[in-house]
Amino acid sequence: MRPLRYSRAATVEEALALAAATPGSAFLAGGTTEVDLIRAGIAHDDHLVDINDLPLTGVEPLPDGGLRIGALARMSDVARDPGVVERFPAISQALLLGASQQLRNMAALGGNLLQRTRCAYLRDGISPCNKRDPGSGCAALDGFNRGHAILGISEHCIATHPSDVAVALAAFDAVVHTVRRDGERCIAFDDFFLLPGDTPQREHPLAAGELIVGIEVPGASLARGSVYLKFRDRQSYEFALVSVAAALEIEDGVVADARLAFGGVATRPWRARLAEAALIGGPADATAFRLAADAELEEAVVRRHNAFKVELAARAAVRALSAVAP
Ligand code: SF4
Repeated sequence: MRPLRYSRAATVEEALALAAATPGSAFLAGGTTEVDLIRAGIAHDDHLVDINDLPLTGVEPLPDGGLRIGALARMSDVARDPGVVERFPAISQALLLGASQQLRNMAALGGNLLQRTRCAYLRDGISPCNKRDPGSGCAALDGFNRGHAILGISEHCIATHPSDVAVALAAFDAVVHTVRRDGERCIAFDDFFLLPGDTPQREHPLAAGELIVGIEVPGASLARGSVYLKFRDRQSYEFALVSVAAALEIEDGVVADARLAFGGVATRPWRARLAEAALIGGPADATAFRLAADAELEEAVVRRHNAFKVELAARAAVRALSAVAP
């Protein structure tokens, strides 16, 4: 049995100090992923710093119409928050379509962003996997890859990012706030989730001992009519094959602004900027929606079992955009 130390912090400062004092420390919030990974021998943390007493559970409306969500806010609390439901319904819907009720009651927003891929080859502990054992290869490339990514992939990893809410947050330019011993920083979502490239073991830019304290979403009037749709093999407690967060602003029958992000198809929550650019200035109809989705998916690279995701993603985008078109 491997020894594992446990500490409980009462303040952010104490949490940072505890983590800094012991190499191999990790922060423990809801524990719904971290503990599984330690048990499976995939995470090798030696010291868990429990941060559940930190005052980071609030959901605050911002004057610009946005939100600040504490890193320890539970998924179910955020999903039900009236400000989230009113200002960003896609975020609420994404949370409610993720995990199970029990997990949503425990899992915290900060941890949700940091959850590891559900690629079975990472979690079996024995297959070649560049995320678990850099340089060992990627069993998914020629293995069973039905659930794997078609966008943002590299020759070293094709694993999808599993979060639902991160897809909705990506659509609305969320920013991750962190603290570390030498100060604070804000990391735009675009910079937070790293593409696998040559280093798939690096999934985010956080330094050792750096703590997520909040997630801020700037105000966006079109977000009030947003939706999140999720397509999966069964209707509950299942990860997305494809998901879509979408919002449109229409003026005089023309798309003035658009937000579109995909989940389940990419190695990170995938902001569909090519599709958004194709939508803006055009009509809000199914033909334009399909052309925009196709523009985004033109770069898709498929493997033996996941080619169906290209068509599924295009249809999902058309359905989501049609749902938010007036
Ligand atoms: Fe590992 Fe990524 Fe390959 Fe899965 S897809 S086996 S996580 S390297």
